[in-house]
Amino acid sequence: MEREQQQGGDRDGGGGGGRFFQRRRPCRFCIDKGSIDFKDVGLLRNFLTERGRIVPRRISGNCMRHQRELTAAVKRARHIALISFAEER
Ligand SMILES: [Zn+2]
Repeated sequence: MEREQQQGGDRDGGGGGGRFFQRRRPCRFCIDKGSIDFKDVGLLRNFLTERGRIVPRRISGNCMRHQRELTAAVKRARHIALISFAEER
């Protein structure tokens, strides 16, 4: 399949930035119905930026409840040094 890669929607050209909704996708943790395991570093990394910061909920698509759990899990993982702290300088 060939597809032109463009930024933004490919329906209407132009148009100022309004809101645009991504597809509503349910929070993956709600789907899994499991609890977030802070030892699952691979999982947690999915929700971290390259700099080790936690991806905001709007981007991660998590529901608020699980975003909180995730945040807690990340903090815990950092605490036991599974994940490096964000380097802020
Ligand atoms: Zn959820």
